Amino acid sequence: MVGGVPVGGGAPVSVQSMLNVRTTDVDAALGQIHALAEAGAAILRLSVDTPADGEALREIAAASPVPLVADIQFDWRSALYALDAGAAAVRLNPGLFPAGGNELAEVASAVREHGAAVRVGANAGSIGEAAIRREVEKGLSRDEALARVLAEKTLEECEALEKLGVHDIKAALKCSSVPVTFRANLEFAARTDIPLHVGVTEAGTLRRGVVKSAAGIGALLLNGIGDTIRVSLTGDPIEEVRAGIAILESCGLRSAAPEIVSCPTCGRTGIDLPALVAEVEKIVEKLKAAQGDLKLRKIAVMGCPVNGPGEARDADLGLAGTRTGQVVLFRRGETLGAFPQEEGLERLRRLILESMDD
Ligand code: SF4
Repeated sequence: MVGGVPVGGGAPVSVQSMLNVRTTDVDAALGQIHALAEAGAAILRLSVDTPADGEALREIAAASPVPLVADIQFDWRSALYALDAGAAAVRLNPGLFPAGGNELAEVASAVREHGAAVRVGANAGSIGEAAIRREVEKGLSRDEALARVLAEKTLEECEALEKLGVHDIKAALKCSSVPVTFRANLEFAARTDIPLHVGVTEAGTLRRGVVKSAAGIGALLLNGIGDTIRVSLTGDPIEEVRAGIAILESCGLRSAAPEIVSCPTCGRTGIDLPALVAEVEKIVEKLKAAQGDLKLRKIAVMGCPVNGPGEARDADLGLAGTRTGQVVLFRRGETLGAFPQEEGLERLRRLILESMDD
């Protein structure tokens, strides 16, 4: 469990993201948390580096609708105050713990005391060259060697925590290369049933990042691997959540219904169709994030009366523009009337809500 969210053991795969505002800016952090949760993020991570971050986290965690993972990178002591402030989990960077010291045991004891979880994992960037070379000398390619060392290091870290009595663990094996990420996760999953958080790290800007993440995360999910996912993008984390949900839908792990169909627009279009479709998508996304599957197969949003009403009639619900800039509303073949664009949209929203009670 990460807070109230089950991870692994057959629980639905959940979507994660990370805040990109300062943790000490409590209002900005909470604003982003609410927006991301509304978009469908089940677990959110935020950075905790200083005691001031810890104090802010106390306020943020108390008001957050989703469990928070504190990302600890520079000082292991941050894990202690993050747990005390209400983090549901801490992400530990193993490089923080001096070999032979008692620091990891101290953090493990705080984790147990707070009933929290730990995310551990190696990052390709932190793997020593010597370990990779040893595997290459055994005949593996460099990518295979890196994947093997990533899997082994992560497993060692998990075992060290288990020995200290921490059992709510999830692992993440991160690399910016899709083939290495895929192979490392496959190796890890073959050796343990510890839940996996999967993603391709430093994936890039929107288009490249989504494609890389879809390839890497999608391949793993289709192999039955992955319990939480994160699409890493350089940009707005809302896009990470949207892409994550789309990947789950594409892999058949979450219902993709309702399908929203829209025409390509042409010289006959008398309404602002792209804006209208974007609004309908937003309504559907929000309702799905809040209430799960909608009982609708298809919603049609069409530009004009040529193909519009026909396509719209074939859908559970639909809108088609008129030459005078109005929209005609349809429900399962029945015409409900023509309305100004705003009103038509509001009526459609209410019909979508009503369909959930059918
Ligand atoms: Fe053009 Fe109408 Fe067809 Fe849309 S439905 S592409 S507006 S003819």
